[in-house]
Amino acid sequence: GRFGKWLEGARDWAISRSRYWGAPLPVWRCQNPACNELKVVGSVKEIVELSLRVTNRSEAISNSNVEIASVATLPRNDTTMDLHRPYIDQVKFKCNKCDGEMQRVPEVFDCWFESGAMPYASEYLFSDYELSAKTTREELRSHIAFPADFIAEGIDQTRGWFYTLLVLGVALYDESPFKNVVVNGIILAENGQKMSKRLKNYPDPQKVIDQYGADAMRFYLLSSGAVRGESLNFSEKGVDEVYKKVVLLTLNVLKFWQTYSDKISNFQFLISKLQGRSILDRWIIWCLASAINEVTDSLEKYEIDRACRTIVWLIDDLVSTWYVRRSRDRFKNEGQDKESAIMTLQFVLQELSKLLAPIAPFLAEYLYRESGGKKESVHLENWGQGKWVQEITESDDYKLDKQMEQVRQICEIGHRLRDETQVKVRQSLRRCQILKSKYQINAEGQILNGIIELIVDELNVKEVGIVETLPSGEGWISKDGVALYTIIDQELKAEGLVRELTRQINNLRKKQGLTIQDKVTVEYQTVEDALKQMIIKSKQELAKAVLASDFVEEENVEGAEIKVDGLLIIINLLKN
Ligand SMILES: [Zn+2]
Repeated sequence: GRFGKWLEGARDWAISRSRYWGAPLPVWRCQNPACNELKVVGSVKEIVELSLRVTNRSEAISNSNVEIASVATLPRNDTTMDLHRPYIDQVKFKCNKCDGEMQRVPEVFDCWFESGAMPYASEYLFSDYELSAKTTREELRSHIAFPADFIAEGIDQTRGWFYTLLVLGVALYDESPFKNVVVNGIILAENGQKMSKRLKNYPDPQKVIDQYGADAMRFYLLSSGAVRGESLNFSEKGVDEVYKKVVLLTLNVLKFWQTYSDKISNFQFLISKLQGRSILDRWIIWCLASAINEVTDSLEKYEIDRACRTIVWLIDDLVSTWYVRRSRDRFKNEGQDKESAIMTLQFVLQELSKLLAPIAPFLAEYLYRESGGKKESVHLENWGQGKWVQEITESDDYKLDKQMEQVRQICEIGHRLRDETQVKVRQSLRRCQILKSKYQINAEGQILNGIIELIVDELNVKEVGIVETLPSGEGWISKDGVALYTIIDQELKAEGLVRELTRQINNLRKKQGLTIQDKVTVEYQTVEDALKQMIIKSKQELAKAVLASDFVEEENVEGAEIKVDGLLIIINLLKN
């Protein structure tokens, strides 16, 4: 690759610079021209020992900060010991070979040499271990993180830091000091030009962070090709998209869970008790385990963008678009199934917070705490790939996932059929039929409990049949192995009106800022007999669906004028 090509053509590297500022070369030379002996000093300790043999001790003390007599006993982080010029140049000592005076050569290091010395230099600062030129590879490995699991920098460091680290590592210990390199590409302006202060062709990062949060920005960058060394045309729209798809969706799901979870205090989620619970719970746990495996694998291979994509898939496609959407009614009912749904979603949110922790740390922390995390912080948790993940992965539930995939496909086609005939989902239809040879939702010999009901609910049909040949003829439309019967009889029509009215009243509730704790009385006025009869007939069902204690017909109602299937009705909601 790129690095290999650079190495092939690498030339000699002059590591010294004739400058004043910089790390001084630790090389002393005998000033006797006939001798010219060189001494390379390998540690601070050695400098101190040598400097005790100083030729003119009093001069050295008076002209520098190097307090030669006491320096050996001082802790090394005491600023008294300054290894830079001019002080280091005061350290002179007698030559071993002749009587001449050893003096440091004037050069300093190329600053890239120091970047290459990072592993040893930073460990010198942060550990108690005293490195020296005599440190063996084994000693090094037992004291510092050498070689490092990974380093991360921009692609422009191919000839810079990546190279200098390698040169020093190989020269000193015959080994690369890093196992992996995460190379980020160049971030360009949205039109592909170089970002330029003069052209101001990029948004102010602080403003982007203020608007969308640091996590959205971070997630956006980590999910882009920039983490694979590709250049990225930075787009604020991209950050906005991440904000909506990751941050907002997660918060919406959390809020949904919080709305219904307050009455259940004793959460205990046991994977071993999954059998017999709703097919949706078992399915989402299977998906969660798959997602955890996928994210773990991605991160272990340093494919951060793949990890991000998996997380988006989990939040958006699996949890929000299907699990929560199809479980809404379960949360509203009472009983064991509701508890199972609440506990399952809590478990999903907790595990999701762990997956998010390295990528969106603030969102992860909020999610963890708000969904009942037990520790002080999600960042103190273990990584989520626990034993249960393996158990689920090895279980039979992959069949469930296969069936669910087909169900979702069938529903998608069903929705498209509805779109084509412009029959809204709110309007119930009589029948849906599925071609047996195309969809093996019963291929394992049985159709799982609850699978058909999912199609019934999602497509809002009265019955679903699996047939050898799809029906045709009046009222039937079909596509890709799915057929819908579109003729709407009187009963269906009435139901459609109920649903439509429900939706409109719930919109009014939302506009008035009512929560699920608020009950209302619905006052209404209409001249339409169809609506009047429908309300009287379906009063109970309506009341439950819009959290009303009663529906009362009044005259001169002052409220919102709404149309239900073209029929006018005036509605006023009175908070009880
Ligand atoms: Zn000499």
